[in-house]
Amino acid sequence: MKDLNKYIAIIQSGGVVAFPTETVYGLGADAWNPSAIQKVFEVKGRPSDNPLIVHISNVDQVHDFSSEIPESARVLMEAFWPGPLSLVLNKKPEVLDAVTAGLDTVAIRMPDHPIALEFISQTGPLVAPSANRSGRPSPTKASHVKEDFGENFPVIDGAATRVGLESTVIDLSSDKPAILRPGSISKKELEDVLGIEVEEAFFHQVEKPRSPGQKYSHYKPKAEVRWLRNNEPTNDESAIYLLLSKAENESNIIHYNNNLTHLAAELYDRFRQADIEGYDSVVIEEFNESDSPIASALLNRIRKALQ
Ligand code: AMP
Ligand code: MG
Repeated sequence: MKDLNKYIAIIQSGGVVAFPTETVYGLGADAWNPSAIQKVFEVKGRPSDNPLIVHISNVDQVHDFSSEIPESARVLMEAFWPGPLSLVLNKKPEVLDAVTAGLDTVAIRMPDHPIALEFISQTGPLVAPSANRSGRPSPTKASHVKEDFGENFPVIDGAATRVGLESTVIDLSSDKPAILRPGSISKKELEDVLGIEVEEAFFHQVEKPRSPGQKYSHYKPKAEVRWLRNNEPTNDESAIYLLLSKAENESNIIHYNNNLTHLAAELYDRFRQADIEGYDSVVIEEFNESDSPIASALLNRIRKALQ
């Protein structure tokens, strides 16, 4: 295991540290320290009405944040933790407003990454939004964090993240479970474990969104993102092509061999590559929601990036 002592000391003195999880890199700060959390918002340029997810290393820590843990939450923790699933629960009064953006609920997850678990077991629970500047693609490599926050920013390097998209967020604070953000854990997997229907609450732009993150446009590179048109030739040298079925390979044509899990793992890296290398567009071959359990989350992120 890496030597984490230097990073643990930064958290303990109220600072922020970027660390790897299985989804994307998180920008960690002590979940009980208001000024450390303030720094998270400043560093990211994040609107203060967008709540943070608390990351824990041990299931028992849930009780520090919520005293109303429904049976559905217990079942999902047992099935999917550690893993890319955030649970929204009614919060205890002492949970800081800065964490929940003043809501009476709190989002919690246990990440499935050995470095994250070791780190959090030493620091205690951390808030950890994605470690990117607001409006930039989430980081899936330590180098992405440094692109956004500078070469000297404290980041624990854990290589490329496995999933590459942010966690599934499910609201369990009422008796109707609802997915607020799709992720690699799909609606079907959640329904199979819960044995009841799970609502999808992420497509509609509601006036007061159930998840504040829903109203912000995220995940946008500078390059134009668009779908590949029917029978369109893939010969524009100012475009990066992300293809699924067509078997071409050039430096600007990347072939995913119908593997949407692989595309999800690389999507944000390709967005960043397009900007660094000065491409005008990222052109993605279309796919269907039924093609893979991760298709819904991938469609959600790509649609947010379409201009
Ligand atoms: P990020 O930290 O960038 O992965 O974004 C966290 C997202 O989790 C927010 O933008 C919200 O969509 C969602 N979230 C966090 N806490 C809550 C909460 N208490 N209620 C509803 N959604 C939440
Ligand atoms: Mg984010």
